[in-house]
Amino acid sequence: MFDTLAAKVRDGKRLDRAEALELYVQAPTALLGRLADEVRARKHPEGIVTYIIDRNVNYTNVCIARCSFCAFYRPVGSSEGYVLGFEEIFRKIDETIALGGGQLLLQGGHNPDLPLEWYEDLFRAVKDRYPAFRLHALSPPEVVHLSRLSRLPVPQVIERLIAAGLDSIPGGGAEILVDRVRKLLNCYNKATSDEWLGVMRHAHHMGLRTTATMMYGTVETVEERLEHLFRLREVQDETGGFTAFISWSYQPDHTELGGDEATGVEYLRTLAIARLVLDNFDNLQASWVTQGGKVGQLSLAYGSNDMGSVMIEENVVRAAGASYCMDEIEIVRNIENAGFVAKRRNMHYEILGDPIFRERAVPRMLELAVARADGDTTRAPEVVNYPARSAAEKKARLTDHTADT
Ligand code: SF4
Repeated sequence: MFDTLAAKVRDGKRLDRAEALELYVQAPTALLGRLADEVRARKHPEGIVTYIIDRNVNYTNVCIARCSFCAFYRPVGSSEGYVLGFEEIFRKIDETIALGGGQLLLQGGHNPDLPLEWYEDLFRAVKDRYPAFRLHALSPPEVVHLSRLSRLPVPQVIERLIAAGLDSIPGGGAEILVDRVRKLLNCYNKATSDEWLGVMRHAHHMGLRTTATMMYGTVETVEERLEHLFRLREVQDETGGFTAFISWSYQPDHTELGGDEATGVEYLRTLAIARLVLDNFDNLQASWVTQGGKVGQLSLAYGSNDMGSVMIEENVVRAAGASYCMDEIEIVRNIENAGFVAKRRNMHYEILGDPIFRERAVPRMLELAVARADGDTTRAPEVVNYPARSAAEKKARLTDHTADT
């Protein structure tokens, strides 16, 4: 029944929307997996599966966007809101370097009280102290937020961030790039589909490589999931700037939206169809952080060629109920047990070498770190140097200032 479509994939021809829908909805899971695995093997014939050692740091949880699927954010003025201090971030970088890492994935809430200059000063401070360290930072909605806050156009914001030390933009905040869905999830105002794609186009034209993501399993239809993939494929045709695609299922615990999480089979089918549609993407990551190590390992048979990051710290999906932890030893064990060769990579998917724990002793990481310990209400000392916009923060900074004098 699917012979014609399977032959098309095997001949390296492109699927259109109707063909992708037929395969995604009707093809047996084993066939989808086999086709995705064949495409993966064609693109990566050497049998290598990569991973990166980096740290996922969320610099603030204060956010005005209030997406209905998010359990991580706190509103302005909340006693549980935090902004990390520069010294705290340096400590996290020191710990990352000790584990063999060379990059931060730095993302956070849309905090109205952190102006563009705060980001520039942070990036410069990191690069002054750790010149070779890389910053994979600020998803497109954060860039849009900074553009609105600073009243500067997006290209100018990106230009200033690059000048301060930005190396690459993570593909977070894409959810589903269809505005009907974004409106229902209350994330249309933080960035429309076109705004998200626009940031990526600008970044690619300015020489940055970025990733692309998809969070599925909320209110979207299967057609809308596929529309998301086709929109990414179009931008990739134009710019070639996406290094990788990562998809994960919505994590419902403690969110306003609630509901159930998609199953493991739905994840594997979604990953496989992404591998078939995104024929111009080289790399597909396995999302073991949301799916767990075992489904993460199975992803390698459904189109993935990368195990993502060794998780040193995670705050966002943990807030919504998922907290899987794998250190480098465990990631490599899963890759090798699946029949692949494990190699460390950088943000551009260039191979850095063999597992670092085989070269030198590294501490085992059996528990994920958090951005801030529960109940720690320390205020970042730098924030007092920047103008606040919210009434709550203006008052708090006045108190900080009075306490300093
Ligand atoms: S997903 Fe991001 S932008 Fe949306 S509420 Fe959470 S922190 Fe804010």
